[in-house]
Amino acid sequence: MHTYDLVVVGSANADLVVRVERRPGAGETVLGSDLATHAGGKGANQAVAAARLGAGTALLARVGRDAHGRLLADSLGEAGVDTSALLTGGAPTGVALITVDPDGNNSIVVAPGANARLTPEDVERAEGLLAAARVVSLQLEIPLDTVAAAVATAARNGTRVVLNPSPPVPLPAEVLAACDPLVVNEHEARFLLDLAGDPAADASSASPEQWAEALLATGPRSVVVTLGAAGAVLADATGAARVASPRVEAVDTTGAGDAFTAALAWRLGLGESLTEAVRLAVRVGAAAVTRPGAQESYPTLDEVAAR
Ligand code: ADP
Repeated sequence: MHTYDLVVVGSANADLVVRVERRPGAGETVLGSDLATHAGGKGANQAVAAARLGAGTALLARVGRDAHGRLLADSLGEAGVDTSALLTGGAPTGVALITVDPDGNNSIVVAPGANARLTPEDVERAEGLLAAARVVSLQLEIPLDTVAAAVATAARNGTRVVLNPSPPVPLPAEVLAACDPLVVNEHEARFLLDLAGDPAADASSASPEQWAEALLATGPRSVVVTLGAAGAVLADATGAARVASPRVEAVDTTGAGDAFTAALAWRLGLGESLTEAVRLAVRVGAAAVTRPGAQESYPTLDEVAAR
């Protein structure tokens, strides 16, 4: 009865990357490398990561009727993502303009474009897709109203919701309450705890386990806090626990969190416990940092097993 292991509702961007000796200041022009164009956006990244692992995956997103939109459709299709709900038109494809200096520091400007035009009505029209999924995975690079509509649609159909609140904003109580789990990195954890006026937001006086417990108290059914090389902490009604990440040589951490969340959502949909799912997710995240790029770096399940 489940046509899809995972339906991702989210963003699709073209990442336009230029390497520079120095990032320009106001009014300044600098010359950089050749332009590199990559398929990106958190929604598309998660969908590609899940499909590469072998999950039956669809992406509900919006791109422009332009070359960047075709690039996204091609990269999703190549990874095996069902693109029947990749909507087109309304605005140019979302773009991230990225400059990277030799120390790896970057400056990024995002033009949301078509991502900002993915509406609650688009989600309602795709109710059949969400109803046919074991899990719906969401992030915040599309309008919050649209995320809320996806949560409501998932709830109506008994579909589990995983949310990575990135970039972080205050969340409506009904969205938070549906998250199972809420998946945050340290920055997002601190933002949400700050908002709740929780003293656990002060990193020096609280452990990640305490962050996870404090976040759980704000409403979600379960919480996962990712900790980069240190792995992740999970918390649910039974308590908090830490899962270590495999030690790897990190080459490029871009998109690691998206791969982690995709793997987590997929395995939860297959019926694994939160602990089991996080154990696979940290291995997928670790594999993703050993190769450059975001989508290009995502492993197959065989590659994860072989490590
Ligand atoms: P984000 O990319 O959203 O900031 P994190 O940096 O916490 O998220 O990374 C997400 C996951 O990717 C981690 O939980 C871990 O499994 C993996 N990961 C990230 N960086 C490293 C690293 N240096 N070594 C091993 N695993 C890593």
